[in-house]
Amino acid sequence: MASARYDYVIVGGGSAGCALANRLSADPANRVLVLEAGRRDAWWDVFIHMPAALAFPIGSRFYDWRYESEPEPHMGGRRIYHARGKVLGGSSSVNGMIFQRGNPMDYERWAADPGMESWDHAHCLPYFKRMETCLAARGDDPFRGRAGPLVLERGPARGPLFDAFFAAVLQAGHPLTEDVNGYRQEGFAAFDRNVHRGRRLSAARAYLHPVLHRPNLELRTRALVTRVDFDGARAVGLRYARPGRPGSVRVRAGEVILCGGAINSPQLLQLSGVGAASELRALGVDVVADLPGVGENLQDHLEVYVQHAATQPVSMAPYFALRARPRVGLEWLLRKSGPGATNHFEAGGFVRSNHDVAYPNLMYHFLPIAVRYDGTLPEGGGGHGYQVHVGPMYSDARGTCKAISTDPRVKPALRFNYLSTEQDRREWVEAIRMTRGILGAPAFAPFSGGELSPGPQVESDAQILDWVARDAETALHPSCTARMGTDALAVVDPLSLRVHGVEGLRVVDASVFPYVPNGNIYAPVMMTAEKAADLVLGNTPLEPEPVAFHRHRAAATTRATP
Ligand SMILES: Cc1cc2nc3c(=O)[nH]c(=O)nc-3n(C[C@H](O)[C@H](O)[C@H](O)COP(=O)(O)OP(=O)(O)OC[C@H]3O[C@@H](n4cnc5c(N)ncnc54)[C@H](O)[C@@H]3O)c2cc1C
Repeated sequence: MASARYDYVIVGGGSAGCALANRLSADPANRVLVLEAGRRDAWWDVFIHMPAALAFPIGSRFYDWRYESEPEPHMGGRRIYHARGKVLGGSSSVNGMIFQRGNPMDYERWAADPGMESWDHAHCLPYFKRMETCLAARGDDPFRGRAGPLVLERGPARGPLFDAFFAAVLQAGHPLTEDVNGYRQEGFAAFDRNVHRGRRLSAARAYLHPVLHRPNLELRTRALVTRVDFDGARAVGLRYARPGRPGSVRVRAGEVILCGGAINSPQLLQLSGVGAASELRALGVDVVADLPGVGENLQDHLEVYVQHAATQPVSMAPYFALRARPRVGLEWLLRKSGPGATNHFEAGGFVRSNHDVAYPNLMYHFLPIAVRYDGTLPEGGGGHGYQVHVGPMYSDARGTCKAISTDPRVKPALRFNYLSTEQDRREWVEAIRMTRGILGAPAFAPFSGGELSPGPQVESDAQILDWVARDAETALHPSCTARMGTDALAVVDPLSLRVHGVEGLRVVDASVFPYVPNGNIYAPVMMTAEKAADLVLGNTPLEPEPVAFHRHRAAATTRATP
């Protein structure tokens, strides 16, 4: 079955896809089609729109691609579960709503690679600003935006446990900072969040829904793109499948833009003949372009929960009890307020765990509750507790994402190689020791009922690493699998995001990062999409803004620096 021709066909109505759809269809002369494998993000769907419901979509086939890594060799052969949004808005409809740009030094590091000069902090900053309306920023703050679609609320991070946390970090020798997305990332602060007026503000709600009335913009959901079609080396369209219907629909396109995320985009490239020639042939796929970097360079953040029981009834535990849920849900439905209106990730910070790194290599989130991955609370004492999530932010472990079947429904093999490097293991030990310095500070003495996890019996470096291998989970930031660059392993051109070696095909999502930034990665994905929109449209890029940002002066080496 054939259909009309579009100027741009966007594969994936996720985070980057929604931003691009908005920007590319702003010119009525451009015919834009968005194809999304998942369902619509219905207005009544509380599991998407109620911030505190964020755990419910994970593991559900109605929202989640439900990936799993291959057995991880340095984690006792464990398979690590990887959620990915499969619904309009993509992962931004199911994520934790924490908004972090990463450190300005992350982009200096990007720009130090050949051909990447236009991705330094000065060039990225205007796009970070264009996408946001930061409600907490001062009017004259040169780092923050005031008129973009993503309205950001900060904190509030109030209550006895948040007060104790901020006092404890100071007692442990760490600074506070005004804004981790502003002049100085290093330190602890209330966090910006993609929550507005008590609701999740996903990329779909912020960018796509407001423009869906445009006659030149079309959206098709439950449309799984199965391959890109080429005429020689030129992408001329694609085909997609619909659940329960035989055959596939073909679409002709002036350009195809892959926004399927860091797992689906490299898979689709490989299934369409773009990847390492030897691997494609072994799979039985005709080679269109021999690009050995496709599906290489996989990066992520691993994290653990360090938990304490609380001796006083000061945590969020009562709201997690089954009997409290109807009341929490009702208050949210009626007023969009109360415990249902928070994502719980209201504060945290960034620290350097050793003197060798030039900028923070650990990120903390603090939660005024101790809750296990399966939703269980500490036994006794009303289940009260608190916890931090912590992990290294620019590990040098590298993995792969490789298609293992020509059937697009067969998930690719994900190998992360977590804990495989000396640097990674060293930073994990430092992370746990540093965390104990904070949670063991005097400010927590009135509240602490003892460390629940990992527990005092985990003491030596070997015991810490063993516990991390058994307990850690992904922070859900897979990225870098079709990276920008100009070397032999680069997949897309930094100046256009076009896939090397072919025409009419670009990638715009978390795959194109060269290195994972040191924070949650949604904001960097959206910055990339904003910048890509100008590159695709041929607009004059926004003027670089070379503002001074905080740099730690005493960095002894250049590890993880340009
Ligand atoms: C549970 C969870 C919690 C997270 N928490 C945070 C957080 O708090 N803060 C933060 O900054 N980051 C967080 N992240 C990470 C962040 O949300 C993602 O990295 C980011 O949104 C990815 O954007 P993307 O555009 O690359 O991909 P996505 O937003 O995942 O979009 C990809 C879209 O493409 C669609 N698609 C894929 N393949 C096809 C195909 N073949 N055909 C059609 N459609 C297709 C998908 O269904 C999806 O809608 C979290 C992620 C998850 C999963």
